[in-house]
Amino acid sequence: MSKGLPKRSENYSEWYNELVKRADLAENSAVRGCMVIKPYGFSIWEKMQRALDDMFKETGHTNAYFPLFVPKSLFEAEEKNAEGFAKECAVVTHYRLKTDPNNPGKLMVDPEAKLEEELVVRPTSEAIIWNTYKTWIQSHRDLPILINQWANVVRWEMRTRMFLRTAEFLWQEGHTAHATEKEAMEETKQMLDVYAKFVEEWMSVPVIKGYKSANERFAGAEETLCIEAMMQDGKALQAGTSHFLGQNFAKAFDVKFQNKEGKLEHVWGTSWGVSTRLMGALIMAHSDDNGLVLPPKLAPIHVVIVPIFKGEEDLAAIKAVIDPIIKELKSYGITVKFDDNDANRPGWKFAEYELKGVPVRMAIGKRDLENGVIEVARRDTLTKETRSLDGIAVYVKDLLEEIQVAIYKKAFHFREENMFKVDTWAEFEEKIEQGGFLLCHWDGTSETEEKIKELTKATIRCIPLDATEEEGKCVLTGNPSNKRVVFARAY
Ligand code: AMP
Repeated sequence: MSKGLPKRSENYSEWYNELVKRADLAENSAVRGCMVIKPYGFSIWEKMQRALDDMFKETGHTNAYFPLFVPKSLFEAEEKNAEGFAKECAVVTHYRLKTDPNNPGKLMVDPEAKLEEELVVRPTSEAIIWNTYKTWIQSHRDLPILINQWANVVRWEMRTRMFLRTAEFLWQEGHTAHATEKEAMEETKQMLDVYAKFVEEWMSVPVIKGYKSANERFAGAEETLCIEAMMQDGKALQAGTSHFLGQNFAKAFDVKFQNKEGKLEHVWGTSWGVSTRLMGALIMAHSDDNGLVLPPKLAPIHVVIVPIFKGEEDLAAIKAVIDPIIKELKSYGITVKFDDNDANRPGWKFAEYELKGVPVRMAIGKRDLENGVIEVARRDTLTKETRSLDGIAVYVKDLLEEIQVAIYKKAFHFREENMFKVDTWAEFEEKIEQGGFLLCHWDGTSETEEKIKELTKATIRCIPLDATEEEGKCVLTGNPSNKRVVFARAY
């Protein structure tokens, strides 16, 4: 490895960008705002997908797939949704290129191949899906519909950053249809809980569950629920959203069902999504100046074993002892890499696996072999210890579980330390500069929220679901308020 990563304390943003590149997660592409997800990055994403997909299936959902393109007339049917996304839409207007007669060897859009109706590249799929649901739903017996889609979407973002905000991103979008408002609201909350569980238990990132204010609500939703996580620079990252759509899309697409009494009613809807942004959250929440720190549940490699050897004979002796240990580790579902590539020195390997966030590194040389011991290093704490080879596989299995929890606790502690109750505007202005979450009273108006954003770049991240009722005064206007909301600067 050449020189080290930039330090988080000196340039957090540069540290992040460099880390993404050097840990081989992703790189910029020839397309502005679109990234290439490299194999190491993609294998983390695949682990995320698998865990989430299992959770969706356990809660009764099935996967399906809808087209990438949305005819403009369908896209504009739900007006608020269309208006909200219009400024970020990529639009297909032609279906053919031809050789440019004035520019040999170059192609041009064939003016004769203009589409009769423009196609919007989906920024989200409510329109195309509700237009389909219209044909699927007639009676209460057709409900609920509980569908998820794994897909890519395009939102023409102006300020992009790898994983956190890209013009094309990978995500899943759940789209459900229900007979009653109550059932749709329960689904919205259930999926928020699924997201919170995933982010906390798999990613080891604590989240706050809450409602978005009207300003931050998904275009076309009646209510947006979200999970918010704190990054190591104190900024917030919205990690997932679950929307209660009311009957908005059912009305826009005329989706009705005959209820048990034989009366026609509009269907109730939800939609919910998490994206490759979660990769950004994972990186930003735990990693350090040496590289990635990955929670074992999402690490592509759990354990790396580095033999320290001089010749074939040394290596063979180490292998004879290590092979059964590797076998045992694998039997516990642990992914092990035995790195005996002699093109790289052990020191180089140590730095490399630290950069890649491999949770446990073991190293063993000839002398260790003689003593029946092995060195075990933890990536999260950067601590090392020498352990007996006896029972080492079980020890490592337990250690991985311990690391998963320890990473969560560290992130939780950091969040606690950077969450402040703030009651005066002077304190707000001071604290927001230091970063963190500010728990404040707010008068409930969009104007106040806008004003605060204008003055400090902080937005309401959420109105926590578990906010306790308490009398207070809005931190900006002094108007009455009955609970605290979370303000922060956000990604
Ligand atoms: P939304 O449909 O706006 O509620 O977004 C669904 C999910 O996608 C949320 O978890 C967002 O954090 C995430 N998301 C929104 N825009 C982007 C983007 N440009 N890049 C990556 N993820 C995004």
